[in-house]
Amino acid sequence: MRVLTLGTGAGRPTLQRHTSATALEYEGETFLFDCGEATQLQLIRSPLKWGKLTAVFIGHLHGDHLYGLPGLLGTLSLGERQDLLRVFGPAGLKEYLRVHQETKSLWINYPLEVVEIEAPGLIFETERYQVFCAPLSHLIPCWGYAFRERPRPGAFDEAKARELGIPEGPERMDLVRGRAVKLADGRVVAPEGLVGPPRPGRSFAYCLDTRPCPEALQLACGVDLLVHEATFGSEYREEAHQWGHSCAEDAARAAREAGAKRLILTHISQRYTEPQILLREARREHPDSELAEDLQSFSVP
Ligand SMILES: [Zn+2]
Ligand SMILES: [Zn+2]
Repeated sequence: MRVLTLGTGAGRPTLQRHTSATALEYEGETFLFDCGEATQLQLIRSPLKWGKLTAVFIGHLHGDHLYGLPGLLGTLSLGERQDLLRVFGPAGLKEYLRVHQETKSLWINYPLEVVEIEAPGLIFETERYQVFCAPLSHLIPCWGYAFRERPRPGAFDEAKARELGIPEGPERMDLVRGRAVKLADGRVVAPEGLVGPPRPGRSFAYCLDTRPCPEALQLACGVDLLVHEATFGSEYREEAHQWGHSCAEDAARAAREAGAKRLILTHISQRYTEPQILLREARREHPDSELAEDLQSFSVP
């Protein structure tokens, strides 16, 4: 599982930073959080397989988080995509895409499901993971998201399995799932001693754009990695809050209070030509903070 910050700027693109988009790659699936202008170009520059795109989660309808979506959806129509694509976002997203389609600027030839989120909580799940949302505090309705993998089976002791002569195949899968297996020679092997205790699932939260708010703490509760906006430094704290944003210190405090293990700062204002001051500010609150650059990759072990 890894997170790629595709666009890390705020408001408008610059030569150094594209507008907001972050990808999550998980076990062969890709999820996109926000889709600022030219996100598809950033996807091409990234190592991601965007044919594997499962879902797009749009936080809010400000252009710096959204202008890339029609372009991306249209380009997927020029390929061979046949799989369903889900797009989640706030009310108004369906209308936004409908106008693009009605004016013929956007043509889609694969199954697309657009979900306008109405309430906080669980919005999407499979056997392996769940995605939750909660309302953030911005100038317009805005959702933050949390991706939580379900608890994983314990680690499989390959060396011991070889020693016991367990063939590679369905027997091993059964053992990982906690079931005893009968081998060809009649021996019955139990999972105890071969499979470790279940491991907690990995998790990721995405909180853009927002002032400090309790919902961001809920989303980020105990996550392995939190991507949080840090539009400004604390010298602009009042201005930041007035415009529905956070400063780097706010983001780091949220990460610390939520028990997030690692913090990635993004949505950096173009006024910071030396954004390392934001990082220094954040590390005073949460030492495991990093400042995202475009196309940077962060693994979640
Ligand atoms: Zn923004
Ligand atoms: Zn915004």
